Amino acid sequence: MADSRRLTPRTDQVLAEPRIRAATGRLGERIVKAAVRDALELCRAGDLRPDDVVPAALAALPSSASSLRPVINATGIVVHTNLGRAPLSAAAVDAIAVAAGATDVELDLDTGRRGRRGRGALAALAAAVPAAEDVHVVNNGAAALALAASALATGRNIVVSRGELVEIGDGFRIPELLESVGATLREVGTTNRVSRDDYASAVDEQTAFVLKVHPSNFVVSGFTSSVGVDQLASLEVPVVCDIGSGLLARHPRLPDEPSAEASLAAGAALVTASGDKLLGGPQCGLLLGRAALVHRLRRHPLARALRVDKLTLAALEATVSGPPTPVAEALVTRPEELMRRAVAIGAAVQDVVDVCCVVSAAAVGGGGAPGVELESAAVSLDAELAAPLRLGPTPVVGRVERGRLLLDLIAVAPEADADLVAAVRRCVTAAPSPAPLAATPAQEQ
Ligand SMILES: *Cc1c(COP(=O)(O)O)cnc(C)c1O
Repeated sequence: MADSRRLTPRTDQVLAEPRIRAATGRLGERIVKAAVRDALELCRAGDLRPDDVVPAALAALPSSASSLRPVINATGIVVHTNLGRAPLSAAAVDAIAVAAGATDVELDLDTGRRGRRGRGALAALAAAVPAAEDVHVVNNGAAALALAASALATGRNIVVSRGELVEIGDGFRIPELLESVGATLREVGTTNRVSRDDYASAVDEQTAFVLKVHPSNFVVSGFTSSVGVDQLASLEVPVVCDIGSGLLARHPRLPDEPSAEASLAAGAALVTASGDKLLGGPQCGLLLGRAALVHRLRRHPLARALRVDKLTLAALEATVSGPPTPVAEALVTRPEELMRRAVAIGAAVQDVVDVCCVVSAAAVGGGGAPGVELESAAVSLDAELAAPLRLGPTPVVGRVERGRLLLDLIAVAPEADADLVAAVRRCVTAAPSPAPLAATPAQEQ
């Protein structure tokens, strides 16, 4: 013990080491010093050789100056809320890197005057949804709905079906959101059934709009009826559709998921949606619809409080006009291809662990396409491996089902298969990692 104390390098010596100094330039002093301190602590305790202090400190450094860690999403939930919803496309990431500096987000370079903020993203959205006369972007889906209710329905009524009074997660409820901006809800129908007549008899001169909410995270089945946008559009008041997950146009694999284009074509005056669910983009809220309504929302004082930053605008434009997003790719990957990858991963780890490959039922997630099962494939391991995989240097989050840990490949980028193999091999062959270097467990959905 005394010996290892004596041989432990001094902190300033370690911090002056060229690789450690380079890391300090990249990550900042606080993070690097903490890693060095932990490694020196191990060395003093005799658990690390003096020569290994620098490599151990470097290995413990995060990949960026943010404490957010990249995770392999092997849950089989494509849009996983706890894992940050949609992973961005490479095109969107590139666009963010460009926008991070000074950009012409609100400047017209031709005239040198102020330009409309985010016009590129707005134009891309408008082009993708021809039925929308105008579009606007806010911070998230809830903000889009709050802005619509504030601008159009404060002190007035919103007519909505009882079957669509949805809690969107983490205790947030759409009816409470609408009431919080001073709108009154006129609830119609019952939990399972509502008719056009129910809506018609609730509409009066106090009605601001009829709201149709996509009950995105549950399904009502059995003796049910709901009223389509086309039928509601013949009422005297505007129809606002909260479609939730943000498909711009119909998706062949999700025939029942509403889209902005279809809702507007059916007669909706305004559509609200999230940008980071099925659209596969950054967190934002989309508002699409009639020019006069969108104009009112854009000019409302609250619009300024809900506006998005340049990074979001850049990523959104690249998402809408760039190549298919990871979410879009996941939705069309063939199950045979996923099984081929599962078999290859299984073959690469079977010498160290008991493994088999199974057909898996994946889901869209993020409150999209409730009840829809996406056929996928998974590597099936002992459930005891769930925690070590989650705590490894490349955290892997799978799904425990009937006593097995399934690593579902639908939301794993093919490029990450090698990392998955390495993570499994490491966690079954490595000794338990020392406590100071272990990560906090991820929250599971
Ligand atoms: C997800 C969702 C919301 C909330 O959108 P956020 O982007 O999470 O704020 C609102 N309505 C519906 C129907 C949703 O699915």
